[in-house]
Amino acid sequence: MSKAVRTRFAPSPTGYLHVGGIRTALFAWLLARQAGGQFVLRLEDTDQKREVEGAAQHISDSLRALGLDYDEGPDKPGDYAPYRQSERLDIYKKWAQKLLDSGRAYADPYGNEEVQKFREQAQKEKKAFLYRNFVSEEQRNDTAWNPKAYATGRGGVPLRFKSDPKAYAWHDEVMGEMSTGPEVVDDFVLIKSDGFPTYNFAHIVDDAEMRISHVIRGQEFLASVPNYLNLYEALKLERPILATMPPIMNEQGNKKLSKRDGAKDILDYLREGYLPEALISFIATLGWNDGTEQEIFTTKELIDKFDLDRVQKGGARFDQRRLLWANGHFIRQMELDELYELVSGQRGLKTGERRTESEEGQSFWPAEADEASEAYKKQVLGLVQERMKYFAELPELTRFFFTDLPVDMSLIKNHKKLKKFDTSELKDLLQRTENALETSDFSADDLQAKLNQLLEDTGHKPAVLLSLIRIATTWAPASPGLAETLAVLGKQKTFARLKTSVKALENS
Ligand code: GLU
Repeated sequence: MSKAVRTRFAPSPTGYLHVGGIRTALFAWLLARQAGGQFVLRLEDTDQKREVEGAAQHISDSLRALGLDYDEGPDKPGDYAPYRQSERLDIYKKWAQKLLDSGRAYADPYGNEEVQKFREQAQKEKKAFLYRNFVSEEQRNDTAWNPKAYATGRGGVPLRFKSDPKAYAWHDEVMGEMSTGPEVVDDFVLIKSDGFPTYNFAHIVDDAEMRISHVIRGQEFLASVPNYLNLYEALKLERPILATMPPIMNEQGNKKLSKRDGAKDILDYLREGYLPEALISFIATLGWNDGTEQEIFTTKELIDKFDLDRVQKGGARFDQRRLLWANGHFIRQMELDELYELVSGQRGLKTGERRTESEEGQSFWPAEADEASEAYKKQVLGLVQERMKYFAELPELTRFFFTDLPVDMSLIKNHKKLKKFDTSELKDLLQRTENALETSDFSADDLQAKLNQLLEDTGHKPAVLLSLIRIATTWAPASPGLAETLAVLGKQKTFARLKTSVKALENS
């Protein structure tokens, strides 16, 4: 029988969670959910200098907001608690002792400065730095390491792994068959002079203790895998399934994604009104596909279809437009009532399990919509649902439905077609529009019929006449279909704006 699937996400609380971290978490979560296994959150907070306040909270908020619920974690203790490495120091000491007892660890004879000198020396000689070349066999056998020294606050000497250099061949679920020679296996630090374990040691202990089946992580750890394999052997541990994620590249695909390319805090996307499900779909397809042309997946489909075998080896391009497109797709799929509740903050973007306090109740409507009725706002929303890519666009897309925007003649002067007309002609066209719409009942169908008639009567193209009416009734750079827009604005507002626009043309 194969081992129960238990995956983990093991971030260090050193900053906000970005798209790369979320992808690792997502893939681990998908594997656990599709196998009916468990997904574990473990905080790797052993580098106290790098820790950022609030980061741990931010990590769990982000996971919850996206619906990546974990079965065990610092605030959800399970059988293998605690889930914060800083609270597991005794466990690492116990495992360190095992290594000392079997002659596979030694008290480090050198401090940081000396190690630095060795490094420089190796560099000068143009040789790869291997710590084990700088210690004698006798030094490597010194097991007089006393963890109690750490507790006194005076610090102790680091504990090093006594490696057994050899060649390795292993399978990485994403990278395929890997092999290395003995020259990459080295004596690495297990426990630092401050008493905290290194990542290299702690994650191996924790993955074993927590019965983790799959280790999914970024490229930066790939080069150290031979060392980990050596340590698994020394501890007589079965190695977990290893999967190395491809890097996420900028839009051009020529360098790793950075903040400058728009790699932002995942919660910022939610604050701007991206849907969790769209983010999940987009992030899942950063380096994965199901072998078809499909580019958008519901979370349920991802749980069914995700497979580490189909994660690509090469870098995945982060294309903002693809995210916008996916988000627009999910917005269009939504029931109007549901969409309304979300953009109005009646329901957090993250409901139930998905809610974080800071996010609840955020309304995306422009302030000018405060006094408008729910029925009116729903009509407006129905009109922009087709084109809205994310909720923060709502004010820009809808403000003119709630307030008269200032007349902006540049919309006419810069218009490809309209700029060719004199103002008196334009004014004349608007007056004819008033006459044509005078008898309309202002239903969208009737308005459409009247506008069609007007096109015929004036002999102008829609790109001229309808653009003019659109501008004169909204003074917005873009608006939904004209007949629908006027129907929602209603007769009174439409006529008042047409009159204002006629006057403005007279005075211009
Ligand atoms: N703490 C490591 C990091 O944040 C985790 C790597 C791993 O998943 O093992 O990069």
